[in-house]
Amino acid sequence: MSPQKEPRTYTLKELGLCAKHLDRRAVSITDRLVKAGFEAYLVGGCVRDLLLGLHPKDFDVSTNAEPEEIQALFKNCRLIGRRFRLAHIHFGRHIIEVATFRGPHVKHDKNTSHAHKDGRLLRDNVYGTLEEDSWRRDFTVNALYLNPQKGIVIDYVGGIKDHQNKTLRLMGEPITRFKEDPVRLLRAIRFKTKLGFELEAKTEAPMLEMAPLLNDISSARLYDEILKLFFNTKANTIFNLLRQYGLFEALFPQTELCLKKTASENPLAFINQAMTNTESRLKNNQHVTPYFLLAALLWEPVRRLTEQNRPSFNSDTQAIHAAANEVVAHQISRIAIPRRITTPMREVWALQPRFHKQIGVRCLRFLDHPRFRAAYDFMLLRAQYGEVDSKVADWWTHIQTLTPADQKLMTRQTNARHKRKPGKKKTESTPNAN
Ligand code: ATP
Ligand code: MG
Repeated sequence: MSPQKEPRTYTLKELGLCAKHLDRRAVSITDRLVKAGFEAYLVGGCVRDLLLGLHPKDFDVSTNAEPEEIQALFKNCRLIGRRFRLAHIHFGRHIIEVATFRGPHVKHDKNTSHAHKDGRLLRDNVYGTLEEDSWRRDFTVNALYLNPQKGIVIDYVGGIKDHQNKTLRLMGEPITRFKEDPVRLLRAIRFKTKLGFELEAKTEAPMLEMAPLLNDISSARLYDEILKLFFNTKANTIFNLLRQYGLFEALFPQTELCLKKTASENPLAFINQAMTNTESRLKNNQHVTPYFLLAALLWEPVRRLTEQNRPSFNSDTQAIHAAANEVVAHQISRIAIPRRITTPMREVWALQPRFHKQIGVRCLRFLDHPRFRAAYDFMLLRAQYGEVDSKVADWWTHIQTLTPADQKLMTRQTNARHKRKPGKKKTESTPNAN
């Protein structure tokens, strides 16, 4: 595909778009920029999603005004970013990103553009024209510019055609473009799934081979990306595709190693189920937190290490703590999962052995533990795959339905049954092996 000299323009009506679906605040930003003599467009994901009848997550603005010129026009503007300088316009808690058109980077100017020896773009602050900006974006369907004042969409790259054919096409030479920014590999999977598009053959061909490039991406950026990958209603499909394209291994190497090494299908089914549960919660507008799903994603390495190291510790809890330390330390060197997430993740794991103790007052106190609910849900998931006896799972489900007096009675009865069975060990049981 070669660059077009003249853009194709389409009216909103021709594309079945309606001005009332555009974000008022984003349109008002373009109005002010245009009044000040600049060009300004709504661009990227918002145009792509509107064409599919989806509700865009955010509306980004693209303009030929430089960051300082944007700042001079808007009181509520902050300039951010070094690698990619941007203006953020604040509307209360809502932020609209306004980016200046980017042009091709000039090799010798380190202040504005800087590429690593492997081709990775470390800085991208060379400004350009709308046409140049179009070609600097990733996929053709992400390079559509909507002019709200004229009611038109400008397309230099054949994005509308690709959109109509449901094709995800990386612009330019795919190997170079993936090397420039390997996060595009993850974006390819995310958009393929979200939009239901097919990857164009040339785009898809080098992906498996390029997957290890993700190792060079900063752990902080990867954390942002995994939230986008896994906290949506298609998380499970994305997870399976990431594995298929060798990308999951670059993100969660310990988990992938376990999945590859085991003959049992349970560890994979366990993650698939956790993903499906997240999807259902999101579809039902229920609260989801990253820690539960991340705890599920890393459970198999933690469980295996616990089992392996168990003889060196006095209890399962101690062995789980030690395994969790090791697995989390390794994982955060790849993906910067913040401590506010790793702390509850560890708690959910460390509480698992307590479900095997159905005796005494400690179990009643456990019901009031702030992390009981998450740990219980996690235990139910384990029970689905044979890691916890279904009778144990049912016991915990039932006790929660009782009054405090009946709960006491239930623990006493369980206690008595245990006493009647001489030789029955009261110690914690090891997380079940597969
Ligand atoms: P969504 O917001 O639904 O995740 P999006 O396409 O809007 O999708 P953003 O991350 O908001 O994604 O980026 C906005 C636009 O910026 C994209 O549509 C694309 O044109 C451009 N863009 C973002 N990331 C890259 C990248 N890594 N390489 C090239 N262009 C990019
Ligand atoms: Mg966006």
